[in-house]
Amino acid sequence: MRGKTEMKKHIFNIFLMAILGIFVITGCTMAGASDLSTDSDNDEKDIQNVPVQSVEHIDNNENEEEDIIDSDEDKNEGIVEDEDNENINDNSDNKGNNANETEPEEKSDSGNIKIHYSGDGTKKLAALTFDDGPESELTPQILDILDEYNVKATFFVVGQNAARNTDVLKDIHARGHEIGNHSWSHKYLPKISKKSKENEILKTEELLIDVFGEHVPIFRPPYGAVKTQDKQLIDSLGYKIVNWSVDTRDWAGTSGEQMMKYVKQQLKPGGIILMHNSGNAKTVKNTVDTLPIMIDWIIEQGYEFVTVTEILD
Ligand SMILES: [Zn+2]
Repeated sequence: MRGKTEMKKHIFNIFLMAILGIFVITGCTMAGASDLSTDSDNDEKDIQNVPVQSVEHIDNNENEEEDIIDSDEDKNEGIVEDEDNENINDNSDNKGNNANETEPEEKSDSGNIKIHYSGDGTKKLAALTFDDGPESELTPQILDILDEYNVKATFFVVGQNAARNTDVLKDIHARGHEIGNHSWSHKYLPKISKKSKENEILKTEELLIDVFGEHVPIFRPPYGAVKTQDKQLIDSLGYKIVNWSVDTRDWAGTSGEQMMKYVKQQLKPGGIILMHNSGNAKTVKNTVDTLPIMIDWIIEQGYEFVTVTEILD
């Protein structure tokens, strides 16, 4: 009898183990299945992530300038009104100016592509240039002053600012001033890829062609900075490279008095004068305030004001 009971217990144990075994195997399979599905989910995610990431990467590249603007806007908030957001670009401009516009990278031209710093030195001509705009507050004030004196100047526009202020852009042109290309987002050209350089130049070119229906043949590199390859590229795109011979250093918050000292020291026949119509609102205000004094003095010296293209002709 004991043997039978033992036997029953044994059979029961086997039965129990069999059930446990099935349970364990099923469990594993289930777990395995869910692992697998997780894996495949991950795989899908990974697969999806590849293009998503690369798209983001491309977007980031494209948005770089927008990121810069955004951060600029953040900095600007509370200081200047919306319209002046471009100003901040000009802050970065100004930093660059600090490093580069004061000392253009290549004073001697390598190859036969010329950087124009001034025009014909035998005629008493001068060209006023205003960079980095347009913006909507100070640019119109500059235009009004130029109108009062019947002086034609040249505005090297930053494409993204021109795109935001097309009315002002059109007004500059309508009042008889010359427009030049000053890149799309004022990047330091020697440090960016060839494709980005092209993009910087051509995006602004497209905008200007859209608005004016013609190619603008003068380009001023941001910060006045160009390497040999940049010169070749700019030249191949049909532009004259134009820097300046008189730096008012207005971007640095220079006082009107000091700006006039620079003009008096540096202006010679054929001189191209660098100023800004966008940037730190305070420093551009100095430019606006000093402009009539500067024009008066230059006229007194017997100069005639012309555009950049005219002075280079
Ligand atoms: Zn500039």
